[in-house]
Amino acid sequence: HPPAESWRLRADIDLDALRANVRALTERATGGAALMAVVKADGYGHGLVPCARAAREAGAAWLGTATPDEALALRAAGDTGRVLCWLWTPGGPWRRAIEADIDVSVAASWALAEVTAAARAAGRRARVHLKADTGLGRNGCQPADWPDLVAAARAAEAAGAIRVTGMWSHFACADEPGHPSIALQQRAFDEALATAARAGLDPEVRHFANSPATLTLPAAHYDLVRPGVALYGLSPSPETGTPADFGLRPVMTLRAWLASVKRVPGGHGVSYGHHYVTPGETTLALVPAGYADGVPRHASGCGPVLVAGKWRTVAGRVAMDQFVVDLGGDSAAAGDEAVLFGPGDRGEPTAEDWARAAGTIGYEIVTRVGHRVPRIYH
Ligand code: PLP
Repeated sequence: HPPAESWRLRADIDLDALRANVRALTERATGGAALMAVVKADGYGHGLVPCARAAREAGAAWLGTATPDEALALRAAGDTGRVLCWLWTPGGPWRRAIEADIDVSVAASWALAEVTAAARAAGRRARVHLKADTGLGRNGCQPADWPDLVAAARAAEAAGAIRVTGMWSHFACADEPGHPSIALQQRAFDEALATAARAGLDPEVRHFANSPATLTLPAAHYDLVRPGVALYGLSPSPETGTPADFGLRPVMTLRAWLASVKRVPGGHGVSYGHHYVTPGETTLALVPAGYADGVPRHASGCGPVLVAGKWRTVAGRVAMDQFVVDLGGDSAAAGDEAVLFGPGDRGEPTAEDWARAAGTIGYEIVTRVGHRVPRIYH
């Protein structure tokens, strides 16, 4: 029987695997590039603070978050190392971030004005990473606006309000080796760096490489690599390779314990909409995990789960809290284990198998594991 605190469903988080992944990625970083562990979105669903601590123990010089709240939560948990936070909106908590010694990303003149004002109010220099849009078309300063942004940043630096500590960008297609945008983005980044150098900026770190670039594009490592998904032992894409190809081990195992096992006659509809009907008399097992726990409803009829020694398939729809599997002629009992995904070396499916079934990516499978699923750290 499962331990008392996890009688329904739980996510086991293998922090040794995370530490080993950080070391493997650091070894892969070329030219002595340091590593920023991307721990946004609650450590891709694995838990912000435990993953951040484990990454630091394995030598991560930097931590990266999207939202200021995540960065401030790291400080509240006692982390004192370098942290970069990059997703800002007007009126964001710039001053609190500056006072907490968090490096902030700036990609537009409004943000530079806000961070400069906040630094003056705080009476200390803000540490700023200027972000260039080299082709992703998401956050980042467009090439046409870059000269003005770097000139304004240089002026704010000369005035003592900020220090430009970083210069950075993000890839669109690094998980598709050979994609023509990769070389174009790198050229655009080098041009942006040259423009900034001519304006008198000399950042401490230049960084560009997410997981796929860390794994496959050594020329994009610069001073710092910035992997996220690979820390958690997942491959960015099938085209990049498998986790094992890079010596990475999946960190999360999601398992449940059967809530019911029962015999039903043939012709019995299963779950909402009756999208599955038993082909004959059979045994149905109830897995107490649903879309509120992050099990994708898109995997209705196809998500894999290891029950009684074999892969089973979700029978009918995934509901909010539960789904059914058809055991056919096999037997099981309430309380038996059902492994949704894990590293895959004990015969269980992986997060990537669920991603394929649901038409999504492994990132989304682990990140959406719900708040009510206890994370058990090892
Ligand atoms: N850098 C930035 C700006 C990101 O938004 C992300 C995540 O999407 C990462 C790095 C890490 O990407 P990945 O998980 O593909 O390594």
